Amino acid sequence: MNRRASVAVFVPHIGCTHRCSFCDQRTITGSQSVPHAKDVAYACERAIECGADLKNTEIAFFGGSFTAVPREYMLELLEAAERYVKKGFRGIRLSTRPDAVDGEVLGILRDFGVTSVELGAQTMSDEVLRLNERGHTSEDVVKASELVKSYGFTLGLQMMVGLYGSSPEKDIYTAERIIGLEPSEARIYPTVILKNTRLGELFLSGEYRPYAINDAVALCARLLDMFESAGISVIKLGLHSSTDVEKDMLGGLYHPAFRELCESFRYRSEMECQIGADKYATFTVPSRELSKALGQKKSNIEYFRSKGVEVRIIPDPLLSGHHINRQTEDN
Ligand code: SF4
Repeated sequence: MNRRASVAVFVPHIGCTHRCSFCDQRTITGSQSVPHAKDVAYACERAIECGADLKNTEIAFFGGSFTAVPREYMLELLEAAERYVKKGFRGIRLSTRPDAVDGEVLGILRDFGVTSVELGAQTMSDEVLRLNERGHTSEDVVKASELVKSYGFTLGLQMMVGLYGSSPEKDIYTAERIIGLEPSEARIYPTVILKNTRLGELFLSGEYRPYAINDAVALCARLLDMFESAGISVIKLGLHSSTDVEKDMLGGLYHPAFRELCESFRYRSEMECQIGADKYATFTVPSRELSKALGQKKSNIEYFRSKGVEVRIIPDPLLSGHHINRQTEDN
């Protein structure tokens, strides 16, 4: 299977009529300047020079609320991207707010070759939406999701974990509601507390307390399982590793390899269920998954050893995806 790739163009904060409690897109995206058509062209030309597999590469506008930017500016970026769709790029992907899509703008996006629309749902709890000053409701997410799909776009939904006023139960509820909307893809962003945000103030005043990182890893491992079991691809779990975020964060749920921690936790939980009261167990996993199954610095092996259980994990090149088999001779 060919891997999808994207040429990312960040559109920080443009189109946002207000600031959500947790957001500082300039830090998250590492982008300070406003991109224009020439920047889109430059990014695409670089991808061509580097030998990108164009038919599997989308031009992606991330960061702000793409469909809420001034219309002239939106068209400038779309026209620039469309030229490269005509040169063989797979299509255009963008992210926006659920209350910033309607039939008129979706029609424009379709005409320009947009293939994927991601909506920032963040949470399906109306109380948590309000507390974090999102400015839209869960019903907006439902309506926008249905509209995006009805126009034939690939729908992606983004959720956050551990927002101000949320709880693990509310995060699981959000995942259930999002799964019910049947997106093709999801992104899960554990909340990171950035300087110069309302959330930062709440954290410093003691009013907001983030989850412990280990609890967040266990929760996100469960969410990952929920989405994948429903056939929804989780294309991002955790903020990308970034020196800007590390420099500007006050706390919260950040780890440069957050997804790997979650996937390792998931393997550990599955092994634990299968081991039961046994003292030895051997598992096979896909070769590509071996480091996740072992855990960072073999932490899963050490975890079982501390409980008096010897576990062996053998890579199997014939397996793929997320997979674990217990060897029968141990049973
Ligand atoms: S709508 Fe998105 S980009 Fe705009 S402030 Fe909120 S989270 Fe940030």
